[in-house]
Amino acid sequence: MIRTDLQELLLANLRDVKDFPKPGIVFKDITPLLSNPDCLSAVVEAMLADIVDFDPEIIVGIESRGFIIGAILASRLGVPFVPLRKSGKLPFTTFKESYGLEYGTDSLEIHTDAIPKGARVLIHDDVLATGGTALAASKLCERAGAGELAYAFLMELSFLPGREKLASYSNKIISTLNIS
Ligand code: AMP
Repeated sequence: MIRTDLQELLLANLRDVKDFPKPGIVFKDITPLLSNPDCLSAVVEAMLADIVDFDPEIIVGIESRGFIIGAILASRLGVPFVPLRKSGKLPFTTFKESYGLEYGTDSLEIHTDAIPKGARVLIHDDVLATGGTALAASKLCERAGAGELAYAFLMELSFLPGREKLASYSNKIISTLNIS
């Protein structure tokens, strides 16, 4: 699919919900995209094409919307999927990082044995906004033993400084849709 067609398809399958979960936030709802198999397939194919050069050995998905496409990418590539979960959800020993959100604060954890030492890790989430979540994910992956990092987001809110925040970890940042 041509990229401009993909952008249009994506835009038509995202829903902006104003003032959710707090006043002033325009929430990018991906449920219409998930309910459209053609759109979901097109997104997965585009992401696979974008990440093939990085050749990830592990896909890390961020709770919770990063689990959906992240697990599909891992399955398609034949590599392990590793979930980063909100505090207190993972059952084994964990590393933990707290971070600021566009709308509050939160913390993420990773199992201490989730990543083989030096592995090339692709971090996936639905939205790159201020970058706090992906930065915390990067720190967790590093603590768990990751080597080179790259990122694949469904969309990037490029009027926010997320990309700059990740620069100290990697400039390999793919976003299927850029919202400026
Ligand atoms: P940030 O840490 O600011 O980059 O925020 C990214 C995380 O918060 C992702 O896990 C997103 O799912 C969620 N998020 C932030 N802003 C939005 C938004 N406007 N719409 C939907 N999800 C968002």
